[in-house]
Amino acid sequence: MKTGASKRLFARARKSIPGGVNSPVRAYGAVGGVPRFLVRGKGAHVWDADGNEYVDYVGSWGPLILGHADPGVLRAVRAAAANGTSFGAPTELEIELAEEIRFAMPAVERVRMVSSGTEATMSAIRLARAATGRSRVLKFDGCYHGHVDSLLVAAGSGVATLGIPGSPGVPKAFTNLTVIAPFNDLAAVSDAFARYGDDLACVIVEPVAGNMGFVAPEPGFLEGLRSLCDGAGALLIFDEVMTGFRVARGGAQARYGVRPDLTCLGKVVGGGLPAAAYGGRADLMGRIAPDGPVYQAGTLSGNPLAMAAGLETLRRLRAKGVYERLEACSEAVVRGLESAAAEHGVELTTGFAGGMFGFFFHPGPVRSFEDAKKSRTDRFKTFFAAMLEQGVYLAPSPFEAGFVSLAHRPRDVEATVAAARKAFARVARIPVAAR
Ligand SMILES: *Cc1c(COP(=O)(O)O)cnc(C)c1O
Repeated sequence: MKTGASKRLFARARKSIPGGVNSPVRAYGAVGGVPRFLVRGKGAHVWDADGNEYVDYVGSWGPLILGHADPGVLRAVRAAAANGTSFGAPTELEIELAEEIRFAMPAVERVRMVSSGTEATMSAIRLARAATGRSRVLKFDGCYHGHVDSLLVAAGSGVATLGIPGSPGVPKAFTNLTVIAPFNDLAAVSDAFARYGDDLACVIVEPVAGNMGFVAPEPGFLEGLRSLCDGAGALLIFDEVMTGFRVARGGAQARYGVRPDLTCLGKVVGGGLPAAAYGGRADLMGRIAPDGPVYQAGTLSGNPLAMAAGLETLRRLRAKGVYERLEACSEAVVRGLESAAAEHGVELTTGFAGGMFGFFFHPGPVRSFEDAKKSRTDRFKTFFAAMLEQGVYLAPSPFEAGFVSLAHRPRDVEATVAAARKAFARVARIPVAAR
């Protein structure tokens, strides 16, 4: 596989951009090799600067549930752009997107648009603190909520990939207010409530974890969080930036039937343009400026191009059978990976929900980040490189989920599984002692 063009671009990028990338995990630090500079995407496929084609399971890290360069999204964005790219004044498109979100998620009675998932979680936490008059926040080990200062503790995604415990530049005074519990461990949450209950403003959780690899909530976990929060007067925040419109139209809250007080959205709601949102109970959202005193603002919030892309995406996701199709595709991918791994005696634990999936080089079960970290990263590295070489583009980290789109076809999955057979054969040859 030719990589000369990507290599040259990467060398050039590093002279102007830290690490040559605008978000850390893009740099292939965990897997080695040269990050592919992409020039084009269409449907389930992407092409790099050397002309190599890949089946893509990154989908811009989640937003592209309709696939790359979807004609409907492009049409909507072009039409919006023709009328002007930004006004900093209200537009009807913002109402339409807000309505679309409200109808899909009944717990979201009012919703405020922002430009990134990070802004959504940061704002939701500010609101939770304001509404409760309390200062502490409980988050789960391995969950990632964007790069908000107080949430950059025991965080997943790139923080986990790079093995960074937190981040320099975040004062201890901020993280002292963050309480950590293991995912899927209600007893630990209960202990935290016993200790800090009076001062816990909220629990924030990825209801299906996707930033420590894919880890599903165990039965009763989300319900348990709901009742612990209710018992202590704390708010429950579902960070559905990844899972919203991804694991079901109504997100994980619809899939598991648990109603959060506040919900954070991003990724799919922007349809591949920068848009995110936070919303929830009307009484809580009524505290946001200008209705209330909790300040939050944004120059490009509700940007018309992003609203148009998001709206087209969410409307298309109303179609019947869409989530069944996405889930069947995710299931086909992980079943294919499982059987290919089994052929070579490679231990693999997989999971999927709607249009997201994951796999660990671990015999399982994987119910927390502690378990996820025990997976064989050497095996992932070999597997990732072998898949990339065969034209399958996975997230370059063992601690990320994979995403399918409505543009993935059975032949894409077949090609992926065929590539996986060869990749697992290579993994099986790694000496057991090497870790
Ligand atoms: C991606 C992600 C974020 C951060 O969103 P950005 O748009 O990258 O700031 C927050 N929470 C979760 C669960 C995410 O997956």
